[in-house]
Amino acid sequence: MISLREALGEAVRDGRAIAHFNITGIDMVHAVVRAARKVGDPVIIGVSEGERDFFGVRQIVAVVDSLRKETGHPIFLNADHTYSVERVEEVIDAGFDAVIYDGAKLSFEENVAHMKASVAYARVSGRDVLLEGELGYIGGSSKVLDAIPEGVTPESMTTPEQARTFVEETGIDLFSPSVGNIHGMLRHAPNPRLDISRVKEIAEVCGKPLVLHGGSGTSDEDFRAAIDAGIRIVHVSTELRRAYRETLDETFRANPDEVAPYKYLQPGVEAVEKVAEERMRLFGRK
Ligand SMILES: [Zn+2]
Repeated sequence: MISLREALGEAVRDGRAIAHFNITGIDMVHAVVRAARKVGDPVIIGVSEGERDFFGVRQIVAVVDSLRKETGHPIFLNADHTYSVERVEEVIDAGFDAVIYDGAKLSFEENVAHMKASVAYARVSGRDVLLEGELGYIGGSSKVLDAIPEGVTPESMTTPEQARTFVEETGIDLFSPSVGNIHGMLRHAPNPRLDISRVKEIAEVCGKPLVLHGGSGTSDEDFRAAIDAGIRIVHVSTELRRAYRETLDETFRANPDEVAPYKYLQPGVEAVEKVAEERMRLFGRK
């Protein structure tokens, strides 16, 4: 089975990006994996601290492992935004393929120190676990928003100089910059445009695959331009959550007496699969 590092190497070579989808339960895992198999591209399943506590840290590893073995498809598992070194160690021990240490709200020095400790733990784990670090605040949670999150300004964007220093000092494998992207999606407007020239400058100076967080609500045009400029992983969460929730609302309205969860959840799961498939076809285009 190809490793995540190898899959990323292929994405770099081909000028593609790998989709990263956040999931909550096993139904969403199945939806994402079905989409990935249909498209034929590798996929990353992401779980935030909240999502992995809901699923079970070791249980999500077991499910992804079981699907990899059953399908032979390259399915990878990432611990999304992880706020302490202890929790980084927990997921490395549990068998995750990648982890993001999120020190975006800390001072640069503290962020670097925690990142270095996380990288050091991964390197002695006996497995090739990729460490992702980020700089620049893009808002906290993946939800539908009425306005751009407080604290996200043109000045909070990552500079190429900061990116280079951070990557060199920490030894991380993947870097996620703030380039106009925000977590969540705006209710009544498209999300802000991405700063494509900033993506390009950062990709050139840091020499690592770049990760775009907060992909939901971004235009197809911006996605493609960002991928051409060096983005190699794109995170999509809110779009899946919204498709699931809206379909559930409709299903409950149409079937007020249905009590079998596997019946009333199914249309929501199919809606998630559809969004995931569309996104993968866009990101994987060569
Ligand atoms: Zn994120």
